[in-house]
Amino acid sequence: MTVFSRDFLLKIPKSDLHLHLDGSLRLKTLIELAQKDNIKLPAYTEEELKERVFKKQYKNLPEYLKGFDYTTAVMQSEKNIERIAYELAWDNINEGVRYIEVRFAPQQHCSKTMTPADSVRAAFRGLKKAQEEYNNSPEVKSGQEIEFHFGLILCAMRYFNKSTSLYYNHLIDTLQHAKEDEIASIASLELARIAVSLKEEKLPIVGFDLAGREDGYPAVDHWKAYQYVHEAFIRKTVHAGESYGPESIFQAITECHANRIGHGTFLFDTNLIKDKNVKNKKQYVEELANYLAGERVGVEVCLTSNLQTLPAIKSVKDHPVNKMMEMGLSLSICTDNRLISDTTLTDEFLLLTKNINLTRKQLRNIVVAGFKGSFFTPYASKHAFVKKVIDKYNQIETQYLK
Ligand SMILES: [Zn+2]
Repeated sequence: MTVFSRDFLLKIPKSDLHLHLDGSLRLKTLIELAQKDNIKLPAYTEEELKERVFKKQYKNLPEYLKGFDYTTAVMQSEKNIERIAYELAWDNINEGVRYIEVRFAPQQHCSKTMTPADSVRAAFRGLKKAQEEYNNSPEVKSGQEIEFHFGLILCAMRYFNKSTSLYYNHLIDTLQHAKEDEIASIASLELARIAVSLKEEKLPIVGFDLAGREDGYPAVDHWKAYQYVHEAFIRKTVHAGESYGPESIFQAITECHANRIGHGTFLFDTNLIKDKNVKNKKQYVEELANYLAGERVGVEVCLTSNLQTLPAIKSVKDHPVNKMMEMGLSLSICTDNRLISDTTLTDEFLLLTKNINLTRKQLRNIVVAGFKGSFFTPYASKHAFVKKVIDKYNQIETQYLK
């Protein structure tokens, strides 16, 4: 068995394709911004907040989600969002991450002076600033290090209520006679239009996503939004199979043209299939998994996050990541939420390699699949970038794994 050291995993070029901006703040920054903007936190020291809110282990999903109340509260101005995005890019660069796709729900970041589109522009400015600083550094200029790139993914929400944000509050107030699923569908279509218009402004809007409560809030309600971005050549990912069964992944593909699946943890869970029309459940999940593998629909695997929110998964050994690999699925290892899950991408790779017996070749394939499965455009640049990643990886492998 090959043992991969933390230092080796830190040095290899990595990509994070499932990374929530609002779940990945520096804790120090959260405290500073809350104090500056008079936002109430349950504590104002890192130690106390780690004890009370941002834990290593959570009792359940609501406890996990609680932290977002505080993070989104400090993300209601362009200045704050720009700073958070800038720091996120540097935190990634400093641990060898060379490509990130940062996602968040712009309709949760809206104030009297900031529209959802403004919040995306602010995140873009922060990421861009860090990228320029790093890409102009002597290490990158001399070719000693490879450059850093990023894209943005906008998330529509499966579920929201009046207290989710000012934007949703106004929408629900205005559409008094509409049903809940109709309001969700209107909101996601509006976000799809925002995504396309920002792409026209030349912002790197590489993907569209659907996040939030999965059970009872089906992806099919959002097909219009997905169709709209699909026609504008924006790629699609859907949080699916995270807290609901294989049918949710099926819908992501059939209704939302998903190019990737966020989590997909319950892909093989036949017990969770509720559709009466599915007669042979085993065959259904096998065909579904084979479709994903064959069409190279990537699965964004977030181990720590799954361990924290899904009580059924007690250790990585209970996680389907191994089975996914055996079936030839294209996987990428992701953090989901660096602050809420108290993790880094290096930690995620460490967790994977400590629990799953991987050969050098298998690890390299997973790392490279993360870059290949990205929504990086244009394709010719992506191709050239992936080549640089492989060269760099080989160089580090020779250095560390004799
Ligand atoms: Zn997520």
